[in-house]
Amino acid sequence: MEPLKLFIGGEFVDAARHKSFATINPATEEVITSVEQSDEADVDRAVKAARAALRGPWAQFDGAKRQALLWRLGELISEHSDELALLETLDTGKTLFDSGKIEIPFAAEVFKYYAGWSTKTHGTTTSSPTALKCTLREPIGVCGIITPWNFPLMMAAWKVAPALAMGNAVVLKPAEQTPLTALKLADLSLKAGFPAGVFNVVTGFGDAGQALVDHPDVDKIAFTGSTEVGRIVMQRAAATLKRVTLELGGKSPQIIFADADLKSALRGALTGIFYNKGEVCAAGSRLFVERSIYNDVLSGLVEATAKYTLGDPREKTTRMGPLVSQEQMDRVLSYIDKGKAGGAKIAIGGNRAAHVNGGKGYFVEPTIFSAVTNEMAIAQEEIFGPVLAVIPFDNAEDALQQANASRYGLAAGIWTKDIKKALRLAQNIRAGTVWVNAYNLYDPALPFGGFKESGFGRDLGQAALEQYTETKSVWVDLS
Ligand code: ADP
Repeated sequence: MEPLKLFIGGEFVDAARHKSFATINPATEEVITSVEQSDEADVDRAVKAARAALRGPWAQFDGAKRQALLWRLGELISEHSDELALLETLDTGKTLFDSGKIEIPFAAEVFKYYAGWSTKTHGTTTSSPTALKCTLREPIGVCGIITPWNFPLMMAAWKVAPALAMGNAVVLKPAEQTPLTALKLADLSLKAGFPAGVFNVVTGFGDAGQALVDHPDVDKIAFTGSTEVGRIVMQRAAATLKRVTLELGGKSPQIIFADADLKSALRGALTGIFYNKGEVCAAGSRLFVERSIYNDVLSGLVEATAKYTLGDPREKTTRMGPLVSQEQMDRVLSYIDKGKAGGAKIAIGGNRAAHVNGGKGYFVEPTIFSAVTNEMAIAQEEIFGPVLAVIPFDNAEDALQQANASRYGLAAGIWTKDIKKALRLAQNIRAGTVWVNAYNLYDPALPFGGFKESGFGRDLGQAALEQYTETKSVWVDLS
């Protein structure tokens, strides 16, 4: 692949200091291409381009015009989905099925969903004999969007689409591990007809993200990433009182009751932890199983996990690709060691899959721990890999108490045929999303985000519009 450039003011440009970095294919450990590396000078250029667009042509685009552009961008994503899926798979190690059949189509759908809100978001009016009082929904301004490497295009879409629908301008900083699809999105935004500067992409490392957070002319930061970095973003954004939304880590519980449809529950437990190699903020990484069926569920999980094929994520037969980077593989393996040292037992997996793909790539065996207690590090800390902790519980109250005993609150899954039990739990679990007899399902209309240290603010749905508009009250005297 050709070396890739930054996208600023509608043009692909070199970084001011002409630095670049390599993006690696985690399945082969080979360089895919080099990408320009932004620093604060590039971030400043991108912010200026965004501000100029807001003051210039973009301000003339009414809702109907923005709607048409967003819809067109959604169509272009669909039309280029094979290329986007391949880029995503090369960069992240996710299977071509996941990128091509699930994630790129969902990103396209998100742009189309928010296209509609461009023409349907407006203020309210109240009147009295002496005054007309109304609210205006205005764009916040320049939005800095910082995204992680696990779902590069999808996470960008969840934030960029509502930001643009509401008339903001965007500077997107994709994760350093996975910059390819953000730059392709830049190309497609040009084809869709967005004016120069409305959408900009600055590829680079954490310092480029930090420059965006620190920049005095950025009005809002929307961040998805680790809780650790989210905390830094929040602290630093305080200096300029930026609006901030944070979608952070998780340690989401899945709860299987003895009265559940066990076949579906097992499938849900497996995709809950092994989809995208467990590199999912909502991964169901703590599996609580009612004690009477604990052994059956565990052996069912082990039997199904043994059939997972690891390999090149471009191959149709591959069920699980490599982790995104050497660093992430090392981190996951060190958690597996911690689990063993803490007294948990490996039911299956537990090693680097060194024999896969000719010995190349950051493959880790899908791993299940039994004999886990909810206090152990592997049950409390986010691993972000294919590692499941299976924990017994005695009754609904015990399950609830253990599920909520976590600093995170992103998602939860409940498996039971007893609807009252499911709804009572759904009401009491402290998490932004609760799936009942399902897991890891998303709808552009359904908000997603965290309770507790999983962050605040919501992506998706009507709720996200709040995060990208300011409300202005106007009082007109009629007396
Ligand atoms: P992960 O642990 O999943 O790699 P991070 O939270 O480290 O996630 O990264 C998420 C995004 O935040 C990436 O785009 C990364 O470059 C960016 N980032 C890292 N450090 C900072 C920082 N101090 N300020 C702003 N952005 C940052």
